[in-house]
Amino acid sequence: MRYADTTEIGVAMTSGGENLLPILDAPGIERMRPLFGLHNQQLSEILQEFSVSAYRVGQLSRAIYRNWIEDLADVTNLSKDLRDRLTQAGYHIGLPSIVETYKSVDGTERYLISTYDGQTVETVWMPEGDDGEAGDGSETGYHDSTICVSSQIGCAVNCQFCLTAKLGIIRNLTAGEIAGQVVAVLKRHAVQIGRDRINLVFMGMGEPFLNYDAFMDAVRLLVHEVGIAESRMTVSTSGIMPGILRFAQEPVRPKLAISLNASNDKVREQIMPITRKWDIQHLVNAVRQVPLRSKEKLTFEYVLLGGVNDQLSHADEAGKLLRRVGRPLKVNLIVWNPGPHMPYDMPPPHRVMEFQARLKHNGIPAFIRRPRGRDIYAACGQLKRTVAVRTNPLLPVFPFLPDEP
Ligand code: SAH
Ligand code: SF4
Repeated sequence: MRYADTTEIGVAMTSGGENLLPILDAPGIERMRPLFGLHNQQLSEILQEFSVSAYRVGQLSRAIYRNWIEDLADVTNLSKDLRDRLTQAGYHIGLPSIVETYKSVDGTERYLISTYDGQTVETVWMPEGDDGEAGDGSETGYHDSTICVSSQIGCAVNCQFCLTAKLGIIRNLTAGEIAGQVVAVLKRHAVQIGRDRINLVFMGMGEPFLNYDAFMDAVRLLVHEVGIAESRMTVSTSGIMPGILRFAQEPVRPKLAISLNASNDKVREQIMPITRKWDIQHLVNAVRQVPLRSKEKLTFEYVLLGGVNDQLSHADEAGKLLRRVGRPLKVNLIVWNPGPHMPYDMPPPHRVMEFQARLKHNGIPAFIRRPRGRDIYAACGQLKRTVAVRTNPLLPVFPFLPDEP
């Protein structure tokens, strides 16, 4: 078992911010042998074990990542003999599957997607506008939709306003489980890569930068094998400074969003205890290292909690702070999405508008994010696993009992 500690990225925090929790990587995954999630070099090595020329890797990779074939037996461009031998050796495709769907009145869909060890993870599909029709109203089945992807089961960061935090951290997702959420949802909606516009936001359950390697492996698979442009991806972090610094060095990477959520360390510490480890100034210094591409902007998210961080003085303070960042940026204002037993209030609509206006007055472009799927707990910060399924009786189910739907 690997324990997160403060010497690496994986700092895991509970209420006081000091306790360390185990961060489990997927247990027993090496015995399961899923192919989905492996990059081409790894697939080539497997083929070579079976004395098959590495040049066939393209066929296998296309079957998995482009054609979304779920059963090895259906990969008919490989010989039957090879398919049988792979299966006998325990290999299978292992694309995660959607086990439950919740549909919102606004068209948003929230899925529970099962992983190999019987855990479930949440993924959200947000169709844009007229849901499946072209923007001009013609019925072409054209999509411009967004998939919100999880990076961990639960989260260790313990932001006080976030429902996912209540789960604690259960385990890291593998690269296959992260990229697999995307493919499972693309397949459900018969999305055509190259024709339909798909945006990915890594803003589901978990802190992507506390599962850095698997998250970035998944990004590379999605870009190089599945075929989604990195410019259509955004990752949000609560501010894991070493992760931001590593991210700044990546040749292929999504756009970056930072969950700022407060205009000073005092307020931020109350609502995001991780501030005690890396304060706002550390974050600002780290994001300045990220080389931006042409027209790229940093995003700062700001969850508005009524009476806590939504005063006009906070908008002034945030404006001042963000001007000092000295990089192209914008603010996304998110009205707090309520959850059961949480001691916060939504700010009144006029306050949200005033806050936005004040930021703009201070020279900061600010947008109010439309809440999606609130009625099905699919909106930001509402993702919390609601059902545990057990698909593999050989593996343990982690002790988690949902306390509300
Ligand atoms: N862990 C990452 C990404 C997932 S959370 C992060 O914290 O950035 C995605 C966004 O949802 C973050 O900006 C977070 O501040 C916001 N969020 C969390 N709980 C929320 C809630 N109840 N209402 C509105 N936004 C929330
Ligand atoms: Fe984790 Fe993000 Fe929720 Fe904070 S807001 S607890 S980092 S998922």
